[in-house]
Amino acid sequence: MQKLLNGLVAFQNSVFENERELFSRLATGQSPDTLLITCSDSRISPDMLLQARPGELFVMRNAGNIVPPYGQGGGEAATLEYAVAVLKVKDIVVLGHSDCGAMKALLSPESVTSLPAVANWLSQAESTRRVVVDNHGDLPKEEMLDKTIGLNVLRQLDNLRTHPAVASRLEKGDLHLHAWVYRIKDGTVLAFDARSRSYMPLAGKEVAVAG
Ligand SMILES: [Zn+2]
Repeated sequence: MQKLLNGLVAFQNSVFENERELFSRLATGQSPDTLLITCSDSRISPDMLLQARPGELFVMRNAGNIVPPYGQGGGEAATLEYAVAVLKVKDIVVLGHSDCGAMKALLSPESVTSLPAVANWLSQAESTRRVVVDNHGDLPKEEMLDKTIGLNVLRQLDNLRTHPAVASRLEKGDLHLHAWVYRIKDGTVLAFDARSRSYMPLAGKEVAVAG
């Protein structure tokens, strides 16, 4: 904890001082363009990964970056509704990641029998587990995990569409959903490509050219 407190002092004494104007502007409101839904995993630092500034990313995190379908879950629906209907974010990114503990647990339900809250939470991703086990059960362990991580992100996009505020904005055509997976070991982000139905490396340069 001391390391974090030292960090706070450094933030207040240098970062904040150098960004007074930004924080003064942010003190009275926010208008982020993007809702990022990702895992609670400590290895994901969204602001660092995307080089985002305070005020740019509205973030929702939980174990396994899960979006309960409309009518289920709790705070997720409220966070989502606020982001989409009030802040009017233009993009929602669901960002899964390699070596995800929640997805490992999903594949090994017996590992969470003494963790009823975790087991209950992960039951929302049961269809992902079923799809993987039934269709990709013969893959080597690591590949099966990667498959699960990718499919889980896609399933959350399906769940997002069940939320009325999201469905309405999608109909208008001014909201876009993205399925991404962050690979921790090499810093790569893979994005699901609807045409090839596969995850492809997302290259910053290409995105910039595509506008
Ligand atoms: Zn995770």
